[in-house]
Amino acid sequence: MRGQQVWNWIYQRGATEISAFANISKDTRELLDAHFVVGRPEVVTAQVSTDGTRKWLLRFDDGEEAECVFIPDAYRGTLCVSSQVGCTLNCRFCFTGTMKLVRNLTPAEIVGQVMLARDALGEWPNGTASLPALPDSDDDDEDGNDSDGPAWIPGQNQPGSNYTSEGRMLTNIVMMGMGEPLYNFDNVRDALAIVMDGEGLGLSKRRITLSTSGVVPMMARAGTEIGVNLAVSLHAVTKEIRDEIVPINKKYGIEELLSACAAYPGANNARRITFEYVMLKDKNDRDEDARELVRLIRKYDLPAKVNLIPFNPWPGSAYETSTPERVSRFSDIIFNAGISAPVRRPRGRDIMAACGQLKSSSEKITRAELDRRAAEKEEAWVD
Ligand code: SAH
Ligand code: SF4
Repeated sequence: MRGQQVWNWIYQRGATEISAFANISKDTRELLDAHFVVGRPEVVTAQVSTDGTRKWLLRFDDGEEAECVFIPDAYRGTLCVSSQVGCTLNCRFCFTGTMKLVRNLTPAEIVGQVMLARDALGEWPNGTASLPALPDSDDDDEDGNDSDGPAWIPGQNQPGSNYTSEGRMLTNIVMMGMGEPLYNFDNVRDALAIVMDGEGLGLSKRRITLSTSGVVPMMARAGTEIGVNLAVSLHAVTKEIRDEIVPINKKYGIEELLSACAAYPGANNARRITFEYVMLKDKNDRDEDARELVRLIRKYDLPAKVNLIPFNPWPGSAYETSTPERVSRFSDIIFNAGISAPVRRPRGRDIMAACGQLKSSSEKITRAELDRRAAEKEEAWVD
């Protein structure tokens, strides 16, 4: 009973002081106070994009930092949560991959990002977070980038406070911030358990998506022990190109990855796997790449959709985004094969909050240093 009361204060009312736990006796509060804190990560900077996207740079107790992004849309508000400071991997098109320092975030630090966003959005105290059906509740674009819906322009068309019956705007979570969530499996699982618990933050697993670059050995456990929607950063359909741009491919190849997707517990036509595909000019964006993607999805009989992501540039990046004509041609080929392939609208680029632009230490690094770090990281994990 005490446990329930404490959870109620912390996760449902957003209390940040143990002294505020009014229905718990003073002695017990003092005992709790002597052993625990109800904390939040420190906000180092908070930025708002012209499109309404918000980004927070957060600092944890040991001084390490990570970013977290809120993306409001016509029908949902999506929080993009980080799982690590930096990333052990080094996908060539991703800014996070260039970071030197890496550590796993703890469950408290992961849940803390959600709590902080609720603070910032003014969403406490509001009882339980049971969510009404929204127009396209569990389908396309769990990533929150509703490519069909209008953007939220602050001050013009506020979707405001009516995403949920309790007036909550934070409706969806994507584990798509900094880091590779399946390389921090236990902490991500434990954090999401609190996020999904009816007496915790109470978000449905259908509103949570975990994205992996392809850590094949952890995918089955992700399905059974976490059970959220799966997104896979595929980005290329040949060994040659995927080895180059998503180097974990050298360890777990495309065929192995797609077999793991086919076996992902809980994937079916109502809950499809999302394949993320960053559109890089003259690298992975030919018609034959699109056709090969369709062939692979069919070969493995995957309940899948494809999310095409225009490449978001960052200082020192070596790629360009495909032309809009190329992207729409690529999308058409996949659509014509009966597979949904929306183009993800870039959000928050002006504040470096879009996919692949997150990084928490502002060092200036040369191309040579970037290449050196990539080689060093690869050596550390490729057998
Ligand atoms: N590490 C996980 C979670 C990060 S999700 C993963 O890689 O899946 C972030 C998504 O944005 C991934 O699909 C990633 O490949 C993609 N991404 C990275 N850099 C990008 C960039 N510069 N432009 C567009 N998308 C990018
Ligand atoms: Fe890490 Fe994902 Fe970036 Fe690759 S794309 S470096 S796995 S965060």
